[in-house]
Amino acid sequence: GNLTFTMIKPTAVKNNHIGDILKMINEAGFKIVAMKYTRLSPERAAAFYAVHKGKPFYENLVSFMCSGPIVAAILEKENAVEDYRSFIGATNPEKAEEGTVRKRYATSMTENAVHGSDSDENAAIEANFFFSKLERY
Ligand code: ATP
Repeated sequence: GNLTFTMIKPTAVKNNHIGDILKMINEAGFKIVAMKYTRLSPERAAAFYAVHKGKPFYENLVSFMCSGPIVAAILEKENAVEDYRSFIGATNPEKAEEGTVRKRYATSMTENAVHGSDSDENAAIEANFFFSKLERY
């Protein structure tokens, strides 16, 4: 697929990294096709991460993700999902490669700067979770 979905997570927003991260995204060849600065309620954060329900980090992840504003965006590029995941780096910032978004801006495993969809199917589900049809063009 040629689309993926991303969020800039609350700590990265709070630390004023929105501009730098969007610049990195564009320079890596991703085109922003939809974007909003918004906030997740506890209910919506829980729903977004429902696949992780029951895991030890789930409660903490949900409360973190609704602790402050986020930036949600749909990105377009050939091979978007896979390329974006290598661009952002490993979930654990200590394992993220030099030059990746998480290496630069993650402050912990949970507060790892950005989200990136893990499949074309989830990219579509996540994009629809945040954006109406009208907002996507
Ligand atoms: P994302 O889906 O956000 O791009 P990911 O695919 O790298 O991240 P997932 O395994 O889907 O990671 O986990 C979703 C999010 O949950 C991670 O981005 C991270 O914030 C948090 N998380 C995952 N594993 C852990 C963990 N072991 N400890 C703390 N937080 C975790």
